[in-house]
Amino acid sequence: MHRQSNLLLPTERQAPADAEAISHKLMVRAGLIRQIGSGLWSWLPAGWRVHERIVQIIREELDAIGGQEMLMPVLVPAELWKRSGRYGIDELFKLRDRRDAELVLSMTHEEVVTTHVAQVVRSYRDLPLILYHFQTKERDEPRPRAGVLRTREFIMKDAYTFDRDAAGLEEGYQKHIVAYDRIFDRTGLEWYRVESDVGMMGGLGAHEYMAPAPAGENDVALAPGYAANVEVASADPQPVAELQLEGEFHTPGMTTIEAVATHLGVGTGNLLKAFPVITEARGLVTVFVRGDHRVNDIKLQNALGEAFRPAEAGELPGPGGFLGPTGQGVEVYDEAVTPGRYVAGANREDYHVVVEVPAGDRLDVRTVQEGDLVDGNPITVEPAIEVGNIFKLGTRYSEPLDATYLDVDGREQFVWMGSYGIGPARIAAAAVEQFADDNGISWPRALAPWDVHVVALGKEDELAAAEALAREIEAEGLSVLLDDRPLRPGEKFADAELLGCPLRLTVGKRALESGTAEVQVRRGREARGGVPLQGGAPAVAELW
Ligand code: ATP
Ligand code: MG
Ligand code: MG
Ligand code: MG
Repeated sequence: MHRQSNLLLPTERQAPADAEAISHKLMVRAGLIRQIGSGLWSWLPAGWRVHERIVQIIREELDAIGGQEMLMPVLVPAELWKRSGRYGIDELFKLRDRRDAELVLSMTHEEVVTTHVAQVVRSYRDLPLILYHFQTKERDEPRPRAGVLRTREFIMKDAYTFDRDAAGLEEGYQKHIVAYDRIFDRTGLEWYRVESDVGMMGGLGAHEYMAPAPAGENDVALAPGYAANVEVASADPQPVAELQLEGEFHTPGMTTIEAVATHLGVGTGNLLKAFPVITEARGLVTVFVRGDHRVNDIKLQNALGEAFRPAEAGELPGPGGFLGPTGQGVEVYDEAVTPGRYVAGANREDYHVVVEVPAGDRLDVRTVQEGDLVDGNPITVEPAIEVGNIFKLGTRYSEPLDATYLDVDGREQFVWMGSYGIGPARIAAAAVEQFADDNGISWPRALAPWDVHVVALGKEDELAAAEALAREIEAEGLSVLLDDRPLRPGEKFADAELLGCPLRLTVGKRALESGTAEVQVRRGREARGGVPLQGGAPAVAELW
């Protein structure tokens, strides 16, 4: 049992002046978090309890699919990031030690974990592996914002799968979908799993887990049986109609899709949702096909003029996709498969792909709009918070970091990888966003800092009765916060509603007289009668 009289739980009447997001305002006001610099936050004891409950849910579900928890350092040699080709990322913090050696602060851990696997995995018998950790990530975000929704330092659960081949990766990926679906169900959040851009990770395909909330920086496009990420356009949100795209989009440090998006002044997510973009491309290739094109109208070749061949069943990216001469995959969906969409394929940064289409085709680009796009059903667009992201990496990291194994026939093969992230802080903030009311936070039961808030009103007798009840409730396996502070009832209730524990029991003079504590359910602020002061704990557990 925690006693509020000696707990560091500094509640505030006023939200910080710069706060706009509900979670920013309420998490500060409820005494859960405090800021120390731009995008830098401390978790105070009650907030940390929420964070760690989320961590525990994630841990249990990853262990259930065979994940092995470990810990890798934040500070790592810059060399690894140079080898993977990601040293140029702006968000990456770079520094030097006293001997002038170059280091980076990890913003994710593909480079480190792949290096370990490269050293220890020898044969096909050592695979598959699922490795994960909870570790601090450092990102020099251009716009830290909204309390803990976008910070420069945060804890991420990042998991990595290592498999023998594409089929193995597919299995590991599907296991993570099962685990992630369970994790987000257990948190009590409202959530969607959506198709997404592979972004800076590179790779063969990705999904994001999105929690709808007005404070979200992503837009989710939804139609029956369809959900995809429409990243908020960085610039002009208007359709970019019938735009002729010519030439090559080679911009150092940018994937093609980023270069094209920059050229058009739209977000990459919008471009991903755009109808046809057909361009000569270097690096990450994303092509959208509209109209009567069929997959076989598209020819892919690399810079040396070597052709991509159609992929076969069992090969990534699967039938309908293409494989480059050295195994690079390009996924293609024509309109018969996914109306109006081609989905991204990926290549190494130094890889040059030419996409040819029949002569005379015009290249149109437009952004997804509310009301467009899918199978005769209008699309709706909702703002959402990205709470998790899973990626099929393929051999994107095992090639530059040389992670290979010997197959059954003794041949050396690259390890196939997947990468899977979740931000517990964002889950906490998303829960605040989704369920708060005018009086404060209303935690989903699985995330609350305490299950039951027992509020004692009055002096010795009331306090003694409240304590006895709290002890009984704890014996039922629930966690209890006891408000034993000598404050006015109004102040105590206001704090309890701000903090948002799911059940509140009040023990005052009336309770002593009647022998029952009043019960209030936080969600909806609904009175639920009373429970006996003595022997009432089972009734509380039942309400739970
Ligand atoms: P965003 O698009 O919001 O910048 P991201 O795509 O860069 O996020 P990932 O690299 O996919 O993030 O990281 C995995 C998870 O880590 C995200 O889904 C999110 O839950 C969390 N996360 C990422 N960046 C931040 C941040 N700056 N602050 C808090 N959590 C974050
Ligand atoms: Mg980011
Ligand atoms: Mg993202
Ligand atoms: Mg992401």
